[in-house]
Amino acid sequence: MPVLINFKICDNAKECNGIDICPTEALFWGEKNNTIIIENSKCISCGKCEKACLVNAINVAKTKERN
Ligand code: SF4
Repeated sequence: MPVLINFKICDNAKECNGIDICPTEALFWGEKNNTIIIENSKCISCGKCEKACLVNAINVAKTKERN
């Protein structure tokens, strides 16, 4: 499911809590472009990154399981 990052408030750092906590590596640091990358096909919509983000920049689309 889609993960959206609001880059207006995200500090786009390699030390992102979302990257650290993601169990499937759907969020990772792109060395080439120096940015957080989201691979939505790997995301299981667990919501951990959303909770871990200190500035509430991450939004995970809701699924039936999470409603
Ligand atoms: S919702 Fe879970 S699986 Fe998806 S990007 Fe966030 S931490 Fe990773």
